[in-house]
Amino acid sequence: MAESKTKAELLPEDVDTDDCLTSYTYIYSPDLLKDQVAFITGGGSGIGLRIAEIFMRHGCDTVIASRNLDKLNEAAKKLSAVSGRRCLPLCIDVRQPDSIMAAVDEILKEFGRVDILVNNAAGNFLCPATALSFNAFKTVLDIDTLGTFNTSKVVYEKWFKDHGGSIVNISATLGYRGQALQVHAGSAKAANDAMTKHLAVEWGPSGVRVNAVAPGPISGTEGYRRLGGLRVEAAGAFQSIPLQRAGNKTEMAHCALFLASRASSYTTGAILVADGGAWLTSANDVSMLLGIASSKSARL
Ligand code: NAP
Repeated sequence: MAESKTKAELLPEDVDTDDCLTSYTYIYSPDLLKDQVAFITGGGSGIGLRIAEIFMRHGCDTVIASRNLDKLNEAAKKLSAVSGRRCLPLCIDVRQPDSIMAAVDEILKEFGRVDILVNNAAGNFLCPATALSFNAFKTVLDIDTLGTFNTSKVVYEKWFKDHGGSIVNISATLGYRGQALQVHAGSAKAANDAMTKHLAVEWGPSGVRVNAVAPGPISGTEGYRRLGGLRVEAAGAFQSIPLQRAGNKTEMAHCALFLASRASSYTTGAILVADGGAWLTSANDVSMLLGIASSKSARL
């Protein structure tokens, strides 16, 4: 009992909803990102929202951008209130380069700079390959892979090319062992991991670092809820993960903070797997996962 309490105390604070933290204990210097500006796609919910909060708590202003402006406005208010930093909500679709160009022009007009890009926007759902429509597969690649390329290219051409910067792509481990029911997201993220290295090579001479975080199962996210995370947890399935638990959103934000900041100044082209060792040991059981998919109708 005493031992598990000690383990729990080692975890950073988190809340399961899309709300800000009620308390926060600093690991890094609070001014690690002082007066920098971060552009975070999909920053209005889940992991992206927590990344925005943690960056802002380290002195950064943020731009959170996705399709649903109402959700972004609400998130931006909460983020500014908790951190005292500016958060600009912008409507974009990462599949539409014109919408990204307009957003980056707006960022440069409002802040005069952009230092960090976090490519976090993604779409996903559980589906066996045979039931996956051509359009569904394409849509996930459009958002996850083309969206990451589109946003990186626009930010590079409009600012990073001449000023340097740091790109953090939010990846996944799905492709490492061919996770059942995830051919679409696994393929998209595998392409993104290659892109992380290609762009690190091409843009390093301009002072641009390009890295990725690959989360495992992360509590308090839409993906976790729709994958039946709480049920999986109650059934003891996390016992097969080396660290024997799901990760939390603040842990992912700390990984993104490390890669975005000067704490990782000599790191580029790296993929930081943050999954408690899950991909090494977790079951990849098609029948079991098909059971979850049919019982939850499993849209992430
Ligand atoms: P989430 O809350 O659903 O976040 C996805 C975000 O992407 C949403 O805010 C959504 O906002 C935005 N988005 C979707 N399509 C878009 C588009 N076409 N253009 C712009 N924005 C778009 O899910 P999450 O679980 O936090 O996932 C965040 C990242 O972590 C993703 O890259 C995901 O693949 C990765 N990941 C998550 C887990 C996990 O356990 N949750 C595990 C591994 C990897 P709008 O609807 O407003 O557009």
